[in-house]
Amino acid sequence: MLLDDDGELRPTIFAEMSALAVSTGAINLGQGFPDEDGPSEVLEAARQAISDGINQYPPGLGMPVLRHAISDHQQRFYGLTVDPDTEVLVTAGATEALAATILALTDEGDDVVTFEPFYDSYAAIANLGRAAHVTVPLRGADFQPDHDELRAAITDRTRLILVNDPHNPTGAIFSRETLELLVELAHKHDALLVTDEVYEHLVFREQHVPIASLPGARERTVSISSGGKTFNTTGWKIGWITAPAEILQAILAVKQYLTFVNGAPFQPAIAVGLGLPDAHFREVASALEAKCAILSTGLSAAGFTVSKPHGGYFVIADAAPLGFPDADEACRRLPELAGVVGVPVTAFVRPEHRADYASLIRFAYCKKIDVLERASAQLAELRR
Ligand code: PMP
Ligand code: GLN
Repeated sequence: MLLDDDGELRPTIFAEMSALAVSTGAINLGQGFPDEDGPSEVLEAARQAISDGINQYPPGLGMPVLRHAISDHQQRFYGLTVDPDTEVLVTAGATEALAATILALTDEGDDVVTFEPFYDSYAAIANLGRAAHVTVPLRGADFQPDHDELRAAITDRTRLILVNDPHNPTGAIFSRETLELLVELAHKHDALLVTDEVYEHLVFREQHVPIASLPGARERTVSISSGGKTFNTTGWKIGWITAPAEILQAILAVKQYLTFVNGAPFQPAIAVGLGLPDAHFREVASALEAKCAILSTGLSAAGFTVSKPHGGYFVIADAAPLGFPDADEACRRLPELAGVVGVPVTAFVRPEHRADYASLIRFAYCKKIDVLERASAQLAELRR
């Protein structure tokens, strides 16, 4: 699945769409990355770290200052007590955390259950590890799972239940009942829970609830996050895992042969970020909510049917009302028709389920307000 039918490298949809934006000069609302820098304290801390000579391999688990900051963050926001010396591992972004976790904890033939649509790396890494990828569809305007379908998908074959909350690409967040059911099913089938919480601080209005904070969850949950989204530093690739010590050791065994370590001067800088006052985290979420509203209004005015994200970077727009039943085709033509790039939601689903999501496009709103306004004005051309 990583190569196309001719054996050629298949780039990720995000790389492909970013290249399309560059070649056409269109506004890139495809790949999810901010177009503005994050907090100056964080940037300055990285510069200072380089000047201070923090430029060699950091310890295998990550620098103590960052491991302590991650532990403090889990306590401050979620009341979770995590031992910074045995239960925290710094990784090369959430991407490496996910890869090391899936490769370490699954054997050939184990099931990895995720929602669908799913972030592209889940299927790719499950495939590299020869695990079977089982999906539970998210449906309806709110993209929620059906509880009976969850019960049917999670079986004694299930090794990992991988939950992305807040969810990419839909912007859904999952109800407490759904999270509790996931914990119950993990116990029933002796599965582990793996969470992808990279958008944990980008939740509008509500408070993010990590699965690890639910009763009975902590001892079987691997929690994954990253600094990229919260601090506008997606290029730094500083992620982390918190998990019970024994599970973490198994993941470390794989991680040490993936990257070994990464990002020495960025680690103390992300530690500074994690220690910023609560107001900073609230502002990150409220600024994004305002941006989401601008792009959503623009998309509606252009004739799309627009979903309502509860957090994250993305809004889903249905192109069918505009006469585009096929979002793949719509996304190829959008640069020429409106000077905007989006990503078809079919990129996040299994080939056999594409028809269920055929006309949906994911647009990123983590961009400057004037860029979103310009994109909205250009998209309005589609109505003519
Ligand atoms: N998980 C999800 C759901 C994502 O959207 C992303 C990318 N932004 C990642 C993981 C990867 O995070 P990182 O850049 O920290 O590797
Ligand atoms: N997470 C980003 C997105 O969903 C992309 C990261 C990547 O290009 N792999 O757009």
